[in-house]
Order: sequence, then C-alpha cells, then structure tokens
Amino acid sequence: MADINLSRITKSFGDYRAVNQVSLDIKDGEFVALLGPSGCGKTTLLRLLAGFEEPDHGTISLGGQAVADPANGVMVNPEARNLGIVFQSYALWPHMSVARNVGYPLEVRGLGRAERDAKIAEALSIVALEPCADRSPTELSGGQRQRVALARCLVMEPRAVLLDEPLANLDVHLRETMQQAFLDFHRRTGATMIYVTHDQAEAMAMADRIAVMDKGRIRQVAAPETLYREPADHMVAGFVGAGAVLPIGDVSMRGTGRCSVRLGEAAIHARICQKAANNSDGQDLGLCLRPEDVWVDEAGTLRGSVEDCVYLGGRFRLQVRVGADQILPVYATRRARIGETVGLVISDGWVFDRSEGEAA
Ligand code: ATP
Repeated sequence: MADINLSRITKSFGDYRAVNQVSLDIKDGEFVALLGPSGCGKTTLLRLLAGFEEPDHGTISLGGQAVADPANGVMVNPEARNLGIVFQSYALWPHMSVARNVGYPLEVRGLGRAERDAKIAEALSIVALEPCADRSPTELSGGQRQRVALARCLVMEPRAVLLDEPLANLDVHLRETMQQAFLDFHRRTGATMIYVTHDQAEAMAMADRIAVMDKGRIRQVAAPETLYREPADHMVAGFVGAGAVLPIGDVSMRGTGRCSVRLGEAAIHARICQKAANNSDGQDLGLCLRPEDVWVDEAGTLRGSVEDCVYLGGRFRLQVRVGADQILPVYATRRARIGETVGLVISDGWVFDRSEGEAA
C-alpha cells in the first residue's frame, strides 16, 4: 500500500477540460471518496490514477514515485501501477466458478496451485464468501457478485483499491449492507481506498475524507462532518446534506468565529468562516441552514408559510417559504397544513464566502 499524490492534474477531451488543476494527497490506508454531480470528472480522475488515461499536465505519484509526469515523459502502464479496480459492472466470467474468477489474475501471473488456493481462500474469507467458492457467479446476488469482484482485486495485493460507483446497480437495502461490507474490508485489510460516487449519503457513511468535485475541479476536501458543518462554498453547501443556502448581506460580528445575521424579522446567531469574516463589504456571503437547526416554534420571530409537508417516520419535513424566493427545509414533530403560517427558531447556521473554493 502507498501514499497517492496528485499534483495539478489537468485532462481535456478536445476543448472540454474534464479535470482541471486537481491536487490531492491521499495517505496510506485512507478511505477517500470522490463525490460530485454527474459529469464533474470523478471517473476521469480515477482513470488517470489507474493509468487508463494520460494527464495533459501535472504529476501522479504512488509511494513517492512518479507514475505519470508528461513534462518528463513518464507514463507507467496500468499493470505496473498495481492498483485494484472495481467497477459497477462486476466483469465476472459466468463460465468459471467464484473461486476461479477470484484466482484468475494469479493464474495469469503464473502462480502455482497451492499458493493460488491459499490466496483465494483468504480473499473469499475477507468478503465472507467461502461457502460460495464452487458456485457460478450467475447463481449469486448483485451484492455477492460485487464482493467476488472485490476479492478478485484483493488477491493481487494492490497498492490501493479504486472503486467506481460499485453499488450503483444495487437496490437501497443491498447498498447499505454492501457499504458495511466495504467498511469491514477496509478495516481488515488497511487498504488505501478511493471511492467514486455521486451519492453523498454513501460518501458520508464510508469515507475518512471526501473530495467534492464540480466541473473538473476539487471544491473542498474534508472529513464528512467538516464538509457538512463547514462547507467552503455554495456548491458544497448545496450538494452535501439537505439544507438551504441563502444569499445574505447583513452580518455583524459577535466574537471569534460567530456572527449575527438578519433574516426577515429574526436575528440568527451563526458560525462564520475566516474568509467570510474578512469580507468587509458583505458581497458573496451565503448562509447555510441545515434542517435539524431550524424548528417550528410559535414563539419564533421568523414567520413563514408551509409549502410542503412529508412524513419521514418519527418526524415531518416541511418546506417553509420565508421570503419571496427563500425556502427552508425544516423538521417538525407535528403535521402542518399547506399554506399554514408557522414561526421558526433557528439555532445554528454557517456563514461562508461564496467565492471560496473557486480557485481550489
Ligand atoms: P458520472 O457520475 O456521470 O459517471 P463523472 O463525474 O464520472 O460522471 P466523467 O465520466 O469523468 O464524469 O466525465 C467528465 C466529462 O468528461 C464529461 O463531460 C464527459 O462527457 C467527458 N468525457 C469523459 N471521457 C471522455 C472521452 N473519452 N472523450 C470525450 N469526453 C469525455
């Protein structure tokens, strides 16, 4: 296993810049998710790392050694990088047993039978599939097939495992089970894992750190909690977690890291990032409000009209209009009528500078 370093990687297809000046350092054993909307460049970045694409500019290093550095004519081929790759399609051979599928890369490498069998047994035990060793992949569920693909990549003892939307084909329940299987796999192997997804809940549930991508750039790299509570810009704030991002202008300081923001009749005490605190003319400021920080309370000075009410089991989620074009998602303990006027109390928010992240 090895550290992975990407430095100012750029890749264009024709005139279209799919990956734009991306730098990212991944530590040995880390689980990093690449998260972003469709077409933002996640898969291209993974393919660059795997060696299926060559960057136009920048360097990629594995364990301190450059594997792609076009300025110096370095381009190490995918096999020599020794990275395990798992895609959403499992790419298993239906005519071979599960065990043979897992061991096939070792056969190609010319390993003897006994050594192969030992490695196959170990890999199948890590993904909890020993009882299925002699079955055909066609007799397995989608989740089991994905675990076979994981075991097949594991027998190669890769320096890191790259996963491209591996759960996209599975139903919701199986996805949750498989998230746990990937986490167990990560814990048991200590493998460096890079996991591409457009599903923020999946990234939050699994990754040590999440790199949020948009239009070929990385907007923010942070632990899930930091990303959720302290988004760097409006793209991250809107993409990660349910919540509203409101443009604001009127901020007064209340001490280090805190400020007061006016929203209609209400004054909201919020946390503020350094760049926003330094933004003296108040331009480009955004207030991120998470639904769990907004409560329906008749004493609330902020009034709004209920636009929608959905029962989530245990609580309700309302959409409340508080201004001409400002809608807040809010949790409530009772059902509300559409059109009903409610008072709101806001216990926390995050003020950020909306220009932050643009130059990342
Ligand atoms: P998704 O989640 O939909 O898979 P993504 O974030 O993985 O999206 P990429 O597959 O990396 O996005 O694609 C980024 C952009 O680059 C897209 O606009 C895509 O059309 C373009 N692109 C990717 N590969 C090629 C290629 N070989 N030739 C031309 N354009 C490409």
